[in-house]
Amino acid sequence: MTDRRTELAGNLASVEERIAAACAAAGRKREEVTLVVVTKTYPASDVRILHELGVRHVAENRDQDAAPKAAACADLDLTWHFVGQLQTNKVRSVATYADVVQSIDRIRLVTALSAAAVRAGRELDCLVQVALDAEEGARGDRGGVAPGGVEELAAAIEGASGLRLGGLMTVAPLAGPFEGRPRAAFERLMEFSSGLRIGHPAANMVSAGMSADLEEAVAAGATLVRVGTAVLGVRPRLG
Ligand SMILES: *Cc1c(COP(=O)(O)O)cnc(C)c1O
Repeated sequence: MTDRRTELAGNLASVEERIAAACAAAGRKREEVTLVVVTKTYPASDVRILHELGVRHVAENRDQDAAPKAAACADLDLTWHFVGQLQTNKVRSVATYADVVQSIDRIRLVTALSAAAVRAGRELDCLVQVALDAEEGARGDRGGVAPGGVEELAAAIEGASGLRLGGLMTVAPLAGPFEGRPRAAFERLMEFSSGLRIGHPAANMVSAGMSADLEEAVAAGATLVRVGTAVLGVRPRLG
């Protein structure tokens, strides 16, 4: 068996190189982009190794897995991101360990998360997840609100106790006009981000790009990339 630490260190170095090259190509400073490692389906022991290797931002998409993992790593200075579709019956748990919730897609979630954050005595950064392929009024297959619903959600977050409006997040659509065109999708997200910042100048976080398309996201202007597979390996099951 190959040593897991060696494997993760090698993968992390490759991803670092890709981000640095993408920043250089785009004329951006490396510090403008935060690497968030998506540790879903992988054990807390991997999170510990990643922390030793310098990772400070990790993400999870299911509370059932994330809550025990965050608890097992509570002694580490890590910023935990929640990136999955979030049911309101899970917000009380998520609010106790998540620092950033990237998947805000409906008003009811804002209300519930606000109450949970206040109860936990915490402040959570919230990103509105934009479904670039969703029809107006609908939610996308992979979560997110249709572009027309972004401002209403942003205003709700800004007005909610315990929550801070961080910015926007998207997952490149698998179908529709942006299918196979992540760069175009991420540029569209940047346009929505520019629009959002007119009324909410502090909401400057833009989360886009995963293992397969992080270069396109950095080129478009993303400030956060969410990378799982390229660091941890191919997940054993759909996570
Ligand atoms: C799993 C996941 C990622 C990471 O995807 P990889 O292709 O493994 O890099 C990023 N964002 C979200 C929302 C995810 O669920």
